[in-house]
Amino acid sequence: MNNEWSLETKAVQCGWEPKNGEPRVLPIYQSTTYKYDNAEQVAKLFDLEADGYFYSRLGNPTVGGFERKMAALEGGIGALATSAGQAASMVAITNICTAGQHFIAASALYGGTVTLFTHTLKQMGVAVTLVDPDAPLDELRRAVRPNTRAVFGETISNPGMCVLDFDKFAQLAHENQLPFIVDNTFATPYLCRPFEHGADIVVHSSTKYIDGHATSVGGIIIDSGKFDWGNGKFPGLNEPDESYHGLVYTAAFGAAAYIAKARAQWIRDTGCCMSPMNAFLSHLGLETLHVRMERHCANAQAVAEYLERHPKVAWVNYPGLKSNKYYDRARKYLSGCSGVMTFGVKGGRAAGETVMNSLKLAAIVVHVADVRTSVLHPASMTHRQLSDEEQLAAGVTPDLIRLSVGIENVKDIIADLDQALALV
Ligand SMILES: *Cc1c(COP(=O)(O)O)cnc(C)c1O
Repeated sequence: MNNEWSLETKAVQCGWEPKNGEPRVLPIYQSTTYKYDNAEQVAKLFDLEADGYFYSRLGNPTVGGFERKMAALEGGIGALATSAGQAASMVAITNICTAGQHFIAASALYGGTVTLFTHTLKQMGVAVTLVDPDAPLDELRRAVRPNTRAVFGETISNPGMCVLDFDKFAQLAHENQLPFIVDNTFATPYLCRPFEHGADIVVHSSTKYIDGHATSVGGIIIDSGKFDWGNGKFPGLNEPDESYHGLVYTAAFGAAAYIAKARAQWIRDTGCCMSPMNAFLSHLGLETLHVRMERHCANAQAVAEYLERHPKVAWVNYPGLKSNKYYDRARKYLSGCSGVMTFGVKGGRAAGETVMNSLKLAAIVVHVADVRTSVLHPASMTHRQLSDEEQLAAGVTPDLIRLSVGIENVKDIIADLDQALALV
């Protein structure tokens, strides 16, 4: 890999660099296991003293290709693919935040992340404080406790479309010697590079724009390699791991300790690894990331402007609109606002359902951020398990329709919306 390459070139070229006579395209290594000539070589792999594959729960060449491409695109030093975006968020937190500890998250989050943080991690003894993402820094500081171990936020929240104030959250994290973890799913590395705005760890649901075609559930964690894990707050990285006969991650892996520990402990013990097939498809999807994202953004901008002008539309939330609360912040941190937006129809939830049910090109699916235009009603679908207050904190109102604008011809997308709105 050439580090000078621009993101577009990395998206096409990185991840799989074949040697003489090898397949040009990243192969699907559909094998659980790897053959060695003697037991000693395998023992060295188990001890993490030699590089290589020994069992596909811990690593696989196809999955490795996807990890290397994502690390290159985000500008990180290493990456770990997981079975889903949910597993990426879980491992990113629990790798450094154990029972009895606490972390802070901006409340504008994906619904599954809210239940993971407020219910499942709570059952594991890890506490979270959800904070208003737009609260002033002084108010956020009051959420910090002696046992706080991380700060978490989404670049563009799903579906609140709240653009993260990177400077503020990075300051909150770093003045307390805490890593700043960012879920960059909606922006992708093409629209936002969180490491350039103070993030230390990035997670993605690769299920969305990274795969881009709605074929593969997956997640990934990328480490910037910049956070100082030796500041006294992270004994798990600096003290011997009894489950790995005394391995000290920072001593053995230096700046790459975080991903090494996540793989050696969390993926080893929970098995939430990515399959080779999904890694192949996600890696393939990334080859066109820049081309797709450009079209998603252009189409969404046109659709948002159309909806904003429409007399039957009550409101539109897309940070690319000049009227949007996050317009300036989006221009500061993003090079585009993705294909996702939310809107409400005059007449509320019932009128919105009429529109959704009348769409012919845009399908009702529990998905977002792929090439096909789709709609979803979060209050009755993705955010259904949240209380009314939790829904509002995540930016979900009863009338909210989430529209994921695809890469079809935008004239057809607008014509479809037009005929459906005419029926209200
Ligand atoms: C979908 C999504 C997730 C969860 O990812 P899965 O791959 O569905 O597990 C996490 N964060 C964001 C922002 C998402 O959109």
